[in-house]
Amino acid sequence: MKILVASRIHEKAIQLLKENGFEVTIVEEPHEDELARIIKGFDGLIVRSKPLVTKKVIESADRLKVIARAGVGLDNIDVKAAEQRGIALINAPESSTQSVAELAIGLMLAVARKIAFSDRRMREGYWAKKEAMGVELSGKTLGVIGAGRIGSAVARIAKYGFNMHILYYDVACRDDLNKELGAECVSIEELLKRSDIVTIHVPLLPETRHMINEEKLRLMKKTAILINTSRGAVVDTAALVKALSEGWIAGAGLDVFEEEPLPKDHPLTKLDNVVLTPHIGASTKEAQEKAGVEVARKIVEFFKK
Ligand code: NAD
Repeated sequence: MKILVASRIHEKAIQLLKENGFEVTIVEEPHEDELARIIKGFDGLIVRSKPLVTKKVIESADRLKVIARAGVGLDNIDVKAAEQRGIALINAPESSTQSVAELAIGLMLAVARKIAFSDRRMREGYWAKKEAMGVELSGKTLGVIGAGRIGSAVARIAKYGFNMHILYYDVACRDDLNKELGAECVSIEELLKRSDIVTIHVPLLPETRHMINEEKLRLMKKTAILINTSRGAVVDTAALVKALSEGWIAGAGLDVFEEEPLPKDHPLTKLDNVVLTPHIGASTKEAQEKAGVEVARKIVEFFKK
């Protein structure tokens, strides 16, 4: 069986494929035309968030049976075209859970303790001790919007690490979280009103687009902090800028944006009560290794069947 690896994946994943008798060819991030040309003869294709696996690429394949994305989601793959050709799709949805959860906690601390703000001031030669007065996470109420893989991992770190009280909002309540963490399953309105920190972990769907809008932001405490490591469009950015500039909420930590990369000079970059990171939730060595190894394992299993 021949596998084309079209993006840099962890060496352990390549080894695993070779040990299981697969012939592996690596061509890093080829353009559409090149990929469409070289895909012939391969049984499997592995990508990350690049390259794009378009309809043209899929239709050019002559013996492709599986496409694997070493990461969460299948955003860069034309899923419909693959399904029409009966090509199986594989991904690694759990690989980045811990990394994203840790980043969400990092953003909470960075905003609550004004870490990025203090760092900026010190580089400007200013000792901003008074302006950097912060708040503790310990004993505060954390509202988790979307208590799936990442949301529940954040809830666990917050409970065990900071003894936070956990509220969550999801389409279904989870007995396991209620029992394990003493978490409360509440409506989104109640969550927003009662939480000191709100962290968003829902997927971007038509029903979650701008889920956090002006009306919802106005329900939050003036002292509250909003964290978004899910997808930018879950929050109405214009409303968030207003909320942060006019003091409806105290601060925000954002890893994802409606427009990525975030345009230079965007209003968010002018606000001192915001910490921004460039969509790095899954950017850790461990998440990348887990993603590669998880899809390699799934490919081995797929061809064993
Ligand atoms: P998941 O599917 O395990 O959890 C999502 C949760 O949201 C589920 O419990 C689901 O029931 C809930 N949900 C869905 N629709 C809802 C709605 N309308 N109202 C309330 N709850 C709803 O997903 P996950 O792996 O925890 O990922 C969560 C988010 O993190 C996704 O948006 C994903 O794209 C994002 N993500 C970001 C990064 C990053 O780099 N920042 C990396 C990986 C994942």
